[in-house]
Amino acid sequence: NKNDVLLEVSGLQVAYGGIQAVKGASFQVRQGELVCLIGANGAGKTTTLKAVTGTQPVANGEIRYLGKPIKGQGAWDLVKQGLVMVPEGRGTFTRMTIVENLQMGAYTRNDGEVETDIDKVFAIFPRLKERATQLAGTMSGGEQQMLAMGRALMARPKVLLLDEPSMGLSPIMVDKIFEVVADIHSRGTTILLVEQNASRALALADRGYVMESGVITMDGAGQALLSDPKVQAAYLGA
Ligand code: ATP
Repeated sequence: NKNDVLLEVSGLQVAYGGIQAVKGASFQVRQGELVCLIGANGAGKTTTLKAVTGTQPVANGEIRYLGKPIKGQGAWDLVKQGLVMVPEGRGTFTRMTIVENLQMGAYTRNDGEVETDIDKVFAIFPRLKERATQLAGTMSGGEQQMLAMGRALMARPKVLLLDEPSMGLSPIMVDKIFEVVADIHSRGTTILLVEQNASRALALADRGYVMESGVITMDGAGQALLSDPKVQAAYLGA
């Protein structure tokens, strides 16, 4: 139901050896929301996403997804339950075609609706349809980002976590990617978006969190953070 808390992170701590990358972060994502997590390089945003999706061990804290604790569960199990991340740098299978990459995205499913879902992904990303039989490695960075997002959608995410989808893309492609994030959200997918492009992310988000040196220091409605002088000074180049 609308407003149900789908993802709840409390006091999350993550360390790499002796380095504490996340030092007690707490945040929630509710059904239907687009929530963004902004912050400087090295603040701990990627590490937070990895810990939530089971690809980085949690030192301390609680993670609840769909009302149940999930700490310690592996990425495969979590993807199967609809907690799906598109990693920074995309990670597409470069020597497979677009369609084969999308089929790989459905590897946790065993229903007969994969072809129907590929058509849905093609409706969101007409560019992928045009290039269906092309090898992923021959596509541009923006096209590969679209493919990575399309592949994640094939797992039928209940919460989609996007790590820096606009990173390294041309201005036109950045526009396109933010359009597509808004489109996926408007079709009903709940999204947690990590972005360096704070102004674009906050403009789109229902709510946002600011992370600094491993802790959440501010939170609020996207528009409220966008007009906050501290956020403007630190992240919006004001
Ligand atoms: P960026 O936007 O640069 O990815 P971030 O906010 O996502 O920044 P993280 O990538 O989560 O930040 O990094 C948080 C801290 O953890 C940084 O100090 C980083 O150097 C450190 N860190 C990240 N990955 C590792 C790793 N595999 N081993 C050791 N330290 C790491």
